[in-house]
Formats: sequence, C-alpha cells, structure tokens
Amino acid sequence: MHLQPLVPPAEPTVRRSRRRLIAFVAAVTFIAQPLTPPVAMFGALHAQSLAPRGQSLPDLGDESQAMLSPVQERKLGESVVRQIRASGGYMNDPEVNDYLQELGHRLVAAMPEGGQEFEFFAVPDPAINAFALPGGYVGVNTGLILLAQSESELASVLAHEISHVTQHHMTRMLAGQQRSLLMSLAALAVAIAAARSSPQAASAAVTGAQALGIQNQLNFTREHEYEADRVGFQRLDAAGFDVTAPATFMARLQRASRFADGNTPSYLRTHPITYERIAEAQSRAQGKPYRQIPDSLDFQLVRALLRSYNGSAQEAVAVFENALKERKFNNEIAARYGLVASLLRATDYKRAKSEMAALEKMAPPHPMIDAMAGHVFLDAGDVNLAIDRFGSALTRYPNKMQLVYDYPEALLAAKRPKDAVVFLERELVRFPDDGRLHQTAAKAYAELGSQMQQHRHQAEFYAWQGDLRGAVTQLELASKATDGDFYQASVVETRLRTLRKELQDQQKTAATRNG
Ligand SMILES: [Zn+2]
Repeated sequence: MHLQPLVPPAEPTVRRSRRRLIAFVAAVTFIAQPLTPPVAMFGALHAQSLAPRGQSLPDLGDESQAMLSPVQERKLGESVVRQIRASGGYMNDPEVNDYLQELGHRLVAAMPEGGQEFEFFAVPDPAINAFALPGGYVGVNTGLILLAQSESELASVLAHEISHVTQHHMTRMLAGQQRSLLMSLAALAVAIAAARSSPQAASAAVTGAQALGIQNQLNFTREHEYEADRVGFQRLDAAGFDVTAPATFMARLQRASRFADGNTPSYLRTHPITYERIAEAQSRAQGKPYRQIPDSLDFQLVRALLRSYNGSAQEAVAVFENALKERKFNNEIAARYGLVASLLRATDYKRAKSEMAALEKMAPPHPMIDAMAGHVFLDAGDVNLAIDRFGSALTRYPNKMQLVYDYPEALLAAKRPKDAVVFLERELVRFPDDGRLHQTAAKAYAELGSQMQQHRHQAEFYAWQGDLRGAVTQLELASKATDGDFYQASVVETRLRTLRKELQDQQKTAATRNG
C-alpha cells in the first residue's frame, strides 16, 4: 500500500494525440487505443528524477538489423519502464504490483513458453488501458483494474497482453521498422518528460512521432489483436479462469466508452473490430463447459485499496462507511480493509485501530491484512508493535514486497538504523535491482553517517528510476567519501565506470538520432 498522497485527481484535458502515441508505443494495447486520456501518468512527477532529453534509450547497436535479440528487447523494454518510472507513471504500490505479478505469472505458468521473462506492474491512471512492451513488461492501468468486475475479467486482459509477447508481435512488428520504433520510443520519453513543464512541447513531440508511420503500425495491430484474443483465450482456460470473461469484459469496455464524457474516441464506438472480437470471444466460450470461478481475496483487497486512493481521504472513508452500513459490497473483508486504508489516509488513527480490530476478527490469515495492521501501528506511532507485526509476518511471507519494504521503515522510525541496514543488505542480495530497497538503504546509511554507502545506494535508486546523470553524480560523491573500506570503494569505482559508459552511449544514440 502507499499511504502517502498517491494519484492526483485526473483532469481530462490531455490531447488525443498523446493518447495515440501511448497506444502506438505500446503497439499492442488491449483495445488498440485507450479510452480516456492517460492524465495521471503525467501527474505524480518528481523533479530530481527527470532524465534529460535524449538520454532515454540504450545503444542497441546496428539499427539496420532486422530483429532484436531477446536481450535487446529486454533492454529496450527496461529503458521504457525507467522512463515511465521517472515520469510518475509507475505505481509504487507493492501490494498492487505483487498482486499483478502473481496473477500474471499464474497465467504464464499455465502455458509455459521458452524462457520468456515477464514483469507486471500497475500504472496509476484512471484511463482504461493495458499494454505490453518489448521484453515482457506488461503495464495495467488502475482504471482497468477497477473496471474489471471479476478476477477472470482482469486475467483475460493479462492473458491477451501476455500473448502479444509470446506470439512475438513486437519482434515481428519491429522487423524492418526498428529505427522508426526507436524514434517513437524516444519521442514518448521526451513527451512524458516535457508534459510537466510545457504541454505544447509534449504535443509537438507527439506529432513528430505520429508522422513516423503510425498508420503502418495500426494495420499490423488488427491481425495481432485477433491472434492475441485467440491465444489469450487458451491461456485463460488453461489457468482455470472463467472463459466467458473476455467477451463480458470487452462488452463492459464498450459500455464504459459510451458513457465516458466528450473524450470517447468515436473509433471505439463505431469500429466493427470490437463487435467482431466480442462475437468471436463469445463463440469460443460457448464450446466450453460453464464453471463458476470465485474471485480471490487478493483481488478484492487490491480493488478496495485502489478505491481508498480515490478522491479526498474523507470521501474515501465515506464510500466504505456507506457500503458497510448498507451492506452493499462484494466482500465484507475487503470493504473493511478499504475503510482502514481510508482512515489511515485521513490520519484518524484511533478509528483506524478499532476498525482494524474488527477486520482482524473476521479476516483469514493474509499478508495484506498483516501489512495493514502493521501500518496502523506504525502510523499511530506504536513503532515497536509495528516492528513485531511486520517481523512476524515476514517469517510467514518472506517474499511479500510490502512487508520487505515496511519492516526496515519501521526500524528506522524506531531509530534503529543499524538493524535496518542488516536487514536491507540481506534483502538486497535477493533483490539487487530493487530501487525502493536502495532508497531505504540510502536513508538508513545517512542516519548512520556512512556517506559512501549512502551515495552508492542513492545512485542505484536514481539508476532504477532512469536518471543516469543523477546516478553518476551520486557515485562521484561516493567515490570522494573516505568512510568506506577498500572493497566498498572498488564496488563504487566499478559501478561508476559502468554507468558513465551507459550515459555516454545514450548521449551518442541521442546525437545520432538528432543529427
Ligand atoms: Zn492487444
């Protein structure tokens, strides 16, 4: 969960052109074009993390090469994800991301494909969209998670996106067009970065990217959509979900687009592709026996958590209070969980405690419940109770990232930076690329006064966010610090050389592209 202010309220003012670009870069969006503007994506921005223009892409070598290797695809996807992170378009909510990862990997495992890696993450954006990037990165907007009325509906979207990856739609599309795709990815990065300071600059970048052959891309997409629907259906079935969900969800999408105000693309209302796709999805499901698939508690809890972020804290509290009073909910545990989350947002710790107690009486053992209970303690200032709760939950659920992040935060709140460092160093062995762990480690080392380690971890956090220049600056500070041992100093030097080289490569790529 993410109890700091998270998603600024959406303002429906983004131009359609930007929407198209997102659709294009995603290339394989679920519905070809998002229904509403991806505004929140441009919302929660962090000044220090802006990667300067032209630093967004790795050097992929010979651009005339027909196909990207899996390693190159992964590199490309990773660089786009970094840009998304730098722009605030990556939801830093481990509960939501963990859930998407579990659901996504359940679908992946149902029909294993040779070694393709996947990473699923949430995008804090009320627009209804999901997309796949090169390298197996799949982003799902929070708007889509909230629109899905069953776990199978959400799974049907993930299965569709996974299929774009496993069917190599990206690679097939890249063949012969790599350069223009790279240009457009670069333009997206610039557009996201520019959006915060100047809407005009952003739309200029977008127009440029559109001119780079978006029409061709969309022609490809139609054929790919059908294939992704077909293969996605098999995957959904193999993973044991409700096979009527794809048709139900597509119809729901259509209705949602009809009722969305002014911004609805007429494309989606009138384009026959959607009706055909629904009809095909229905006929596929007809051949299968009916099965009732209950939603997991995780699905319900994640949706309640996302709802608790909507509107003001008071509004969120009222939504759950009313639902509980009128007993209008799908799942009472989730409604109570949402109420506690909203009360924490409203900093009403006294009520949060009593509602948490009520929730614990009815909830089964569950890591999200443990994490929420720990948070109630932490936010209310009962740091030692929080440490106990997070600590004991971690012994049962050592891979739950929310707990992995919260435990050292609680130790820091209790002024135990040494213990936090011991824990963090151990977890960083398991998750060496985890930006948030590096960020907390930087904080812990700062409290201990260990400058070299502080700057080193701050550098890794910036690199994870896509801010290579910031990362290099931090490593330079680390290399000047004199409080590290020989081993630590050589780690810093090696890393500094690597990141300087990466930064140079990107600047070279940018120069080639601009020249
Ligand atoms: Zn698609």
